[in-house]
Amino acid sequence: MYQMGGATRRRFMSGLAAIFGISKLTPFGLAVQAAGQAPATPDGVQIDPQTEYDRLVKLSSNENPYGPSEAVMKAMTGAWKYASRYGYPDGGITEAIAEHHKVPPDHVLLGAGSAEILKAADDAFLPDHRKVVGVEPTFEVVYRFATNSKAQAVTVPLKEDYTVDMKEIIRVTRTNARDVGLVYICNPNNPTGNVVHKDDIKLLLDGIPEDIPVLVDEAYHHFVDNPDYESSLKYVLEGRKVIVTRTFSKIAAVAGMRLGYGVAPREVIDQMRPVIYGSINAIVKYGGVAALQDSSYEARIKLLNRQVRDQTMAQLKSMGYEIIPSDANFFMVNIKRDVMPVRQEFEKRGILVGRRFPPMDTWLRVSVGSEDDMRRFVAAFKEIVPAGAA
Ligand code: PMP
Repeated sequence: MYQMGGATRRRFMSGLAAIFGISKLTPFGLAVQAAGQAPATPDGVQIDPQTEYDRLVKLSSNENPYGPSEAVMKAMTGAWKYASRYGYPDGGITEAIAEHHKVPPDHVLLGAGSAEILKAADDAFLPDHRKVVGVEPTFEVVYRFATNSKAQAVTVPLKEDYTVDMKEIIRVTRTNARDVGLVYICNPNNPTGNVVHKDDIKLLLDGIPEDIPVLVDEAYHHFVDNPDYESSLKYVLEGRKVIVTRTFSKIAAVAGMRLGYGVAPREVIDQMRPVIYGSINAIVKYGGVAALQDSSYEARIKLLNRQVRDQTMAQLKSMGYEIIPSDANFFMVNIKRDVMPVRQEFEKRGILVGRRFPPMDTWLRVSVGSEDDMRRFVAAFKEIVPAGAA
């Protein structure tokens, strides 16, 4: 695993700290912010917020606990010389993505994280009072963007087994067909971690009018090991009005550097392109090219994630807790009580876990960290959620 030198790490961490707004993360941090000074431990030792952040076990945002690969760090370090430029050579990132997916470059749209593509899709396809259809719970940012722009989210509950009710999505989309600007499917779904069956994606595309765009968010694609899953990129290649989004934030571990993209037919990309400003930094474009080439790192992370995830899930299951099968780098466990107070208890112990995802208020979403992170998580879990509570 790549290890950064002290100065390099400090430089990167201060950037990450700024991006995550660390002083907002813990009551400890809030107190610091209010007092305008560095916090102190009980024995009076001053800790700066950066150190505090570094010490947290971060299991709330589905990040990669291992950091970017050595090749990615090298590529990014070499690109610092472009930090002062606008018109720098970008390392060929768009072409590299296009080649990776066997599509022409005009089928690719880059974003500062895939969230920027989700926003662009909302802006392009959901003008005033149009509707976006999708399940609940899912990655709700799409619905938030929609309602901000006076569009409306029409959501369909998950089935009893927490999978997507595709027949109902199709029914709702057809019923509202004149007003629906976008259908959103997150695959694997966040926060549940389970996949949308490939037959269900086909059912959807066969079951709704062809002119309604379907956005399939594949942020967690790289972690999936499930014969029922397939990427929806094949529908883009068939010319269907499908947008597939991917991100470098998860498997490539550059969440703080912000790079993602959408792949769609050219006409669809052309509708979204005008609402993208081009706020991606020069450095991560080089990191992205290196990440696409580093398939052995990707395979290693995928394997590690699976091992640590399955081990942690087995431990919780042996304690009697219900867990939704996961194909992602996070999972949900039913703690049979409101997650918010429990989340605070974890936070007091320096462990960040997922928030509430209505209506699944008793399900705790836990990101898969390193083996050590998960050991600390399970130990805290045993303290906070006592045996017999399941
Ligand atoms: N889609 C899903 C399903 C996510 O969970 C996230 C981030 N957690 C994103 C998109 C956005 O990620 P990013 O902007 O970092 O690519």
